[in-house]
Amino acid sequence: MVAAQLARKGLGAVLIDGSGRAGHGVAYSTREPAHVLNVRAEMMSAWPDDPENFVRLVEQEGGDRRDFVQRQQFGRYLKAVLKEGVDTGHLRVVEQHAVAAEPKGSGWSVRLADGRAVEADALVLAIGNQPPEPLPFAKAGARLINNPWGPEALAAVEELAATHDDVLLVGTGLTMVDAVLSLDAAGHQGRMVGLSRRGLVPRGHTDFAPAPVEAAEVPHGNVRALWRWLRRRGAEVGWRAAIDALRPHSQALWQALPLVEQQRFSRHARPWWDVHRHRIAPEVAQRLHDLVAEGRLEIVAGRIQAVEDEGDALTVTYRRRGASEAHSGRFAYIINCTGPLGTITRTRDPLLRTMLDDELARPDQLGIALDVDERSRVAGAPRAWAIGPLTKGRYWEIIAVPDIRGQAAAIAEDISRELGQ
Ligand SMILES: Cc1cc2nc3c(=O)[nH]c(=O)nc-3n(C[C@H](O)[C@H](O)[C@H](O)COP(=O)(O)OP(=O)(O)OC[C@H]3O[C@@H](n4cnc5c(N)ncnc54)[C@H](O)[C@@H]3O)c2cc1C
Repeated sequence: MVAAQLARKGLGAVLIDGSGRAGHGVAYSTREPAHVLNVRAEMMSAWPDDPENFVRLVEQEGGDRRDFVQRQQFGRYLKAVLKEGVDTGHLRVVEQHAVAAEPKGSGWSVRLADGRAVEADALVLAIGNQPPEPLPFAKAGARLINNPWGPEALAAVEELAATHDDVLLVGTGLTMVDAVLSLDAAGHQGRMVGLSRRGLVPRGHTDFAPAPVEAAEVPHGNVRALWRWLRRRGAEVGWRAAIDALRPHSQALWQALPLVEQQRFSRHARPWWDVHRHRIAPEVAQRLHDLVAEGRLEIVAGRIQAVEDEGDALTVTYRRRGASEAHSGRFAYIINCTGPLGTITRTRDPLLRTMLDDELARPDQLGIALDVDERSRVAGAPRAWAIGPLTKGRYWEIIAVPDIRGQAAAIAEDISRELGQ
């Protein structure tokens, strides 16, 4: 989105993406039709000044603005947005991994995996969500799939669909939902167990009457007070309307929390917030409900105690929350569905790794993403910006398209100003 914004401004840019899915990223390169957006089409335009941009395409293709369309359809749209940028002649795509970056003159030199370098007056880090923190089950071997978005996960789904063996999904959020839908669509008939500490699963969207609030009506600076407000407001207008009313204020609310309150929120309130705020399409919620009713999906609140590799399967011992007895089960695979990496210093991305090691970038106050200023500039790194999940510590709600597109436009504007163009 930043690249497309820069191209519209007539600024030359190079987009470096080593995944072979430039413009799609992790979220929108899925080919699985069951993977639908968790935001309605009408909210998904790439252009904040043209909110109907995606809806027009959806309607041309026979859909409706209120639909939760397939993520691959949105991927095609993003590809078209990228192509529009390339067609201006100002944007070039380089299909390579970036492995290091260093300041050069007043700009940057970015080293690519093939040894070449790209030089530029400004650098934007847009490397997105990173695979989850690996699960600490050393004995699990290849039956533990730590990257739920990688080729091993796709191969495991295919194998499970053929064998109908049981599978353990660790984490019960949006990544688990994707894994369940993939297995279901592939025809897997075995048992799926989703396990997390609290066993909280994303709630579904439904229609409701919005109940907007002014920022001044919401308590700032204290998580408990905010929580009390949400409970009270939820009782009056419904929890969906109460939560969604915070959307326009969420970044300001986050920034008004002192560090200890942000820590409290991310430690205690985050799982609850995530499942209520980042909801799933109603048809997806219904499918999960049906799978649970059919006994094919079980959601467990608990903790894993041991994992043993038996060769043809893993034996997993886990204790349900509140239970005194441990329970054990055999699973062909464990898929790590704990969600994107939450500790930036554990990144395995070579570019980010070297920038952190060389102190060209530093973790934010919570250590979850990069320290950036109010214009998304990387702290201490002149002419470097970061976008999206990499800026979560500053903005918190900056992972979905309706938030990222505004940030992309603001960054492009800031770059244009900085470079005097
Ligand atoms: C499974 C999933 C489903 C989602 N569904 C929705 C949804 O329905 N609606 C919504 O609004 N939001 C959704 N989101 C959230 C949101 O859209 C993403 O957070 C957003 O795509 C982030 O965009 P990005 O460009 O920052 O990163 P990404 O889209 O992740 O793109 C980053 C790209 O950079 C590449 N890259 C990384 N490191 C390097 C390197 N060193 N060199 C070169 N290339 C590199 C990656 O391979 C990737 O292609 C979803 C997220 C996920 C993970």
